Order: sequence, then structure tokens, then C-alpha cells
Amino acid sequence: MQLIDLSGEIFHKCPTLANHPPAVITDWNTHDTYREAEGVRFSIASKFMSFGEHTGSHVDAPVHFDADPNALSVDQMPLEDFYTDAVCLDLSHKELKSRITVEDLEAAEKAAGIEIRPRDTVFLYMAHYDRTFGTPEFLTDFPGLTKESAEWLGAKGIVMFGVEAVSPGRPGKDNFEVHLVCRDMGFTHMEGLTNLDKVVGKGRFRFIGFPLKIRGGTGSPIRAVAVLGENSAE
Ligand SMILES: [Zn+2]
Repeated sequence: MQLIDLSGEIFHKCPTLANHPPAVITDWNTHDTYREAEGVRFSIASKFMSFGEHTGSHVDAPVHFDADPNALSVDQMPLEDFYTDAVCLDLSHKELKSRITVEDLEAAEKAAGIEIRPRDTVFLYMAHYDRTFGTPEFLTDFPGLTKESAEWLGAKGIVMFGVEAVSPGRPGKDNFEVHLVCRDMGFTHMEGLTNLDKVVGKGRFRFIGFPLKIRGGTGSPIRAVAVLGENSAE
């Protein structure tokens, strides 16, 4: 069994979209200051953190894109949605800023020699992180799903899909439509993943990535992990 970390780091000023709060992480306590009690010297290190729920590798809760008062918040989502069988499609040949079509997804599924099943988590490897991380283009120049390709995923009955980019669709209309498809077809997605190249070509595997229990949360950072070679997922 092998565990592969699919999560990106959360760090001070890490890239975030302008319509989300910035990530601020600073020292709160350091070992430079200490307390003493009856001759025992003690110090702690801890940090202050402030950032939006949609920071780093994170999941969107339905309430993020669904104005229905009954839409689930992240603390209401079933834990089973974050412990699923998974597959990864290779779309790394797609140009940055291009659209992922239904034909692209069909060809990638065939090339992977797998079949997407109901309740799967589907990772979409677009080689976006390696091509852009550390540059301003990371936030803008990713390939993206369209309404039709998101519907194709939804029709498979998947639990969610995951991408490396900060949005699943190209900025603007495509991205709005992909989110609305998730709302209307009852699935969701993760954004900000890494290391998807390491699960390409691995067939079926286990996905584990639990969100924080944020009351009423519209999303949450997750520690996304692929478990390879676990019998129950094969
Ligand atoms: Zn989203």
C-alpha cells in the first residue's frame, strides 16, 4: 500500500483568487519568549492563521454554489463522500487556457483503460500545477471543463471530481456553468490539488480527503490522499 499526497501547501500569501480572502499566517508564539514556574522554563511555538475556506486544496460544499436553503454545508456532507474509489484521467496534453471537451474525457477514459463508476471520485490531471505554479498564470491559465464536459461527469453519477486549478472551468461563463451543473446534478469538486501525475495510469485506487467540520462552511481545506494498492479499491 502506498499513500500519495495530492494536497498543495497552505502558506502565508499563497495564491488565492481576488474574490476570496488572502491567506495570512504569522507567528503567534515563538520559543524566543518563555514562561517560568517554580524554576521550570517552558516555551511554545504557535501560529495565527486567517484565510478563506477555499484556500489551497479544498472542496466546495453544495451551499457554496446553491442558494437553496437546504443545500448542504461542508459539516453536513457525508463522510462517505470523502472516502471513495477513484480514478485519474490524463489530460496533460491539453494546452493551457484550452477547453476540456466531452471527446477529451471519453478519449482519456479509454486511454486509461478504466471505467468511471457511480460514486467514484474522478481526478483530472492537466499538468497545470507544474506548468504554472509560482507564476501569476497559476490563477488564470488552466485548461477548464465546459458545461457539456461537466454534465458528462455528472451523468456518470460521480461523487466529485478534482482539479489542480483554482477553478474547474475557464474563468467567467464556463466556470459559472460548471458550478451550476454541479448544483443541478448533485455532485461537487475539489480545487487546488497537486501530484496528480503520480496517480495517472494507476487504474482504480482509494481516495481519502476529509474536510474540516466548519459549521455552515461553504467549503474546507482537505488533506487529499490517494491510497494505491489497497485491495478493497481494486
Ligand atoms: Zn469551485
